[in-house]
This record gives sequence, C-alpha cells and structure tokens, in this order.
Amino acid sequence: MLEQIIIKTTKRTEFIDITRKIQEVIAERNYQQGLCTVYVHHTTAGLFINEAADPAVCKDLENFLDRLVPWKAEWEHLEGNAAAHVKAVLCGNSHSIPIQEGKLQLGTWQGIFLAEFDGPRTRKVLLAFT
Ligand code: ZN
Repeated sequence: MLEQIIIKTTKRTEFIDITRKIQEVIAERNYQQGLCTVYVHHTTAGLFINEAADPAVCKDLENFLDRLVPWKAEWEHLEGNAAAHVKAVLCGNSHSIPIQEGKLQLGTWQGIFLAEFDGPRTRKVLLAFT
C-alpha cells in the first residue's frame, strides 16, 4: 500500500518533523504491524531520523552541513544548486521504520525529518507499508 504526504517548505534549508503526519496515516489506515518505508523522491531534499526534542540539534545539523558543503563553491552543475544535491546525497532519501500495535517504533527522542536543501518547494513524501 502506497500513501503520500505533501509538504510545502518555506526556506532554502529547512528540517521539518513529519513524524506526526506519518503516524496519522498509520492511524487512519489502521495499520497495526509491519514496516513503513518513508521515501523522498527529490534530488535536493532528503530524509533523516534524529532528535526531535531539542530544535538546537537540527540547527547544529544545518550549520554543520553548511560548513561542510558551502553554497558558493566551484561547482560544475549549472543550475546553481549543487550544494543542495550534495547535501541530499549525504542525508539519504529513505528509511524503514517498524510499526507495532499501530505505532512507529521510534526511540523516545527520535523524529522523522524531511530535509529541504533547495526550498521553498512543494515536496512529496511517499510511504510504503508492508
Ligand atoms: Zn540542480
């Protein structure tokens, strides 16, 4: 079964916690047990699982990636967003999370984040349930 979530981003770089939206789909469809594969099919956005409690963690991640992959550098890609492509590769675009008793089996502090690296844009997150 395939579902999708549409996210409108508002900044060039933005990490959006989509855990609640995914959990809502699981509840609406009454999925009790299995695997939820979350997939972002974009080339300048990614997906990661990390701390959702302290927003400073996302800010640190954003700052670190900006230092590691500067926007202005001697990139070959003519569109002008090569840094966003590199960050998306570093981040990855898919995770699989077990579902048990209707709940994503995330750790206490974990959240699932859409990572926008070339916004603002409208992004589609695909959810495959098996
Ligand atoms: Zn590009």
